[in-house]
Amino acid sequence: MIPGPIEFESEVMQCMAVHTPSHVDPDFIAIFANSLKLLKEVCQSTSGQAFIVARTGTFAMDMAAANLIETGDKALVISTGYFGLRYAEILKRYGAEVDVLEAPVGDIVPMERIEQQLKSKSYKLLTFTHVDTSTAVLNDAKSIGALGLKYKVLTVLDGVCSVAGEEIKQEEWGLDVVLTASQKAVGVPPGLALLVASQNAIQVFERRKNTVANYYADWTNWLPIMKAYENKQASYFATPAVNLVIALEKSLQLIIKEDLDNRFDRHRRAGNTMRAAMKALGLELLSKNEQTSANTLSAPLYPSYIDSTTFLQEISREGIVLAGGLLPELKDQYFRIGHMGSVNKGDLLATVGAIETVLKNKGYVFELGSGTARILEHF
Ligand code: PMP
Repeated sequence: MIPGPIEFESEVMQCMAVHTPSHVDPDFIAIFANSLKLLKEVCQSTSGQAFIVARTGTFAMDMAAANLIETGDKALVISTGYFGLRYAEILKRYGAEVDVLEAPVGDIVPMERIEQQLKSKSYKLLTFTHVDTSTAVLNDAKSIGALGLKYKVLTVLDGVCSVAGEEIKQEEWGLDVVLTASQKAVGVPPGLALLVASQNAIQVFERRKNTVANYYADWTNWLPIMKAYENKQASYFATPAVNLVIALEKSLQLIIKEDLDNRFDRHRRAGNTMRAAMKALGLELLSKNEQTSANTLSAPLYPSYIDSTTFLQEISREGIVLAGGLLPELKDQYFRIGHMGSVNKGDLLATVGAIETVLKNKGYVFELGSGTARILEHF
């Protein structure tokens, strides 16, 4: 129950164990082509260009920056935690002049503040973290997309902790890049960087004056490969992670079969229920309010006298793996519970049950069963 890697479906894991075909085997080419198509479907983009590359989410962030930024370009980072600040560092590596709008911990940057900033200065690109995994804060992707369109700024959504768990309508909301990785709500073991770029973003890339400074990330190398796979033709730039791509096709098929709206709704219910359960136990959440709380993970604060180091070990003895805090300045004050992918009522009950057991053992005063009751009532 950590916020990635998550528990994977057995049908997906079975794909990891098949004999690895050649990356130019016609059957594998068909799987790759279908995965590109399904990835766009999950991001709700019809005209975008999908990329599937062996690497992780950080590389997907790197790829967008490397291809869209040239030295001296102005970029705005809307930061809701650890991963926003990471994006600022990445953009600077490619020569961007970066401004950061940093939200107070557990909150978002208000839309009016973002608009004021976009009015005051002309930016080429803005980035935001849809769900910041360090704070469990959810940004309003639709409104940020609209601001991007209004001020003609490329919008890059870091969806590593949101794609396939939180609603994203890339095309309708005017988002230029939606990027993610395989190991979270997409439901595939770590190792794939996934990205869908709008045609607008591709045109900005095509008008570049300078060569992309990162060889492996360069869309000049990858665009012909992705287009070849889409057209069911063999091609090579760098060897794809063949088994991971086979597993990706399977997981994306399962996601589409569940139906995107149903899946987002299930995640919404999981998020609402887990937050309600934590509040019933008297635990505060790092994400300040319901409208801007993620549905893919929760970040409860420890009661003041609970020792964080032994808490997670004791939870793990109860059979549940949770994650510690990630924000360096607060890391011993909160923990994180992932609830994405195939998570079900039993998982939520077992998790809250384990938390209650350990809290009880540590002498924390609360009504035993009050957290699990929220799961039974609401999920
Ligand atoms: N962005 C967010 C929101 C993330 O949660 C993560 C990973 N936890 C990353 C980026 C980086 O992804 P990776 O660890 O796959 O490089």
